[in-house]
Amino acid sequence: VTPGLRPLIAGNWKMHGTLREAASLAEGVRAGAAGLKAEILVCPPFPYIHVVAVAMLGQPVAVGGQDCHLAAKGAHTGDVAAPMLRDCGATYVILGHSERRADHGETDAVVKAKAAAAIAAGLTPVVCVGETLAQREAGQAETVVRAQVGGSLPEGFAAAGGVVAYEPVWAIGTGRTPTEADIAAIHGALRETVGGATRLLYGGSVKPGNAAAILALPHVDGALVGGASLVAEDFLAIARAA
Ligand code: PGA
Repeated sequence: VTPGLRPLIAGNWKMHGTLREAASLAEGVRAGAAGLKAEILVCPPFPYIHVVAVAMLGQPVAVGGQDCHLAAKGAHTGDVAAPMLRDCGATYVILGHSERRADHGETDAVVKAKAAAAIAAGLTPVVCVGETLAQREAGQAETVVRAQVGGSLPEGFAAAGGVVAYEPVWAIGTGRTPTEADIAAIHGALRETVGGATRLLYGGSVKPGNAAAILALPHVDGALVGGASLVAEDFLAIARAA
């Protein structure tokens, strides 16, 4: 963890669970969140955000969205605007996740506009970057993530407390992670690109068993956790490792 920064452990629930399960998972996280050194963030699917945010009122657990639109309102059927997330109790929003980039064709320019909209609405953006397996095997990982960061972060990102998550696409949901040296190398490169005030998370198959080693690496200021965030005890074990 970079000196002066509070680690952030973020759970990306993706498109999982029922309303009842979301409430129960939130309660499990809430019950173990007191007194942790790390800041804790959970990002439920849109329909569950408000109920989770109400459960976290007065608790040391922040709530975030998994995407937002780049406009503050308008004729955009099926989309959700950043001010709506804020209104429902979210204070963070994940943007540019590789699943959004792949499923919805989100480009760096779109992610940048969304991050600007998030900041304007008073949300803290968590912007995701990461190379594909082909790019890693071609030796392009660092170039790719530097370019993504360069293209995806709007003016005022650092001042707004914006967070960057490095998530190699091939490590997401696969149980595979880069070597510690490879994570440290990318995070070192990202640190040069974003400066000292921006928290840099690692994401991709973070589990209770590998969290402590990953979180001990230089310039790793937290984790973005998918699968393991769906089990409160696993998520809390990762949070305690920070
Ligand atoms: P995973 O997902 O922890 O299940 O690999 C991480 C993510 O996509 O944010």
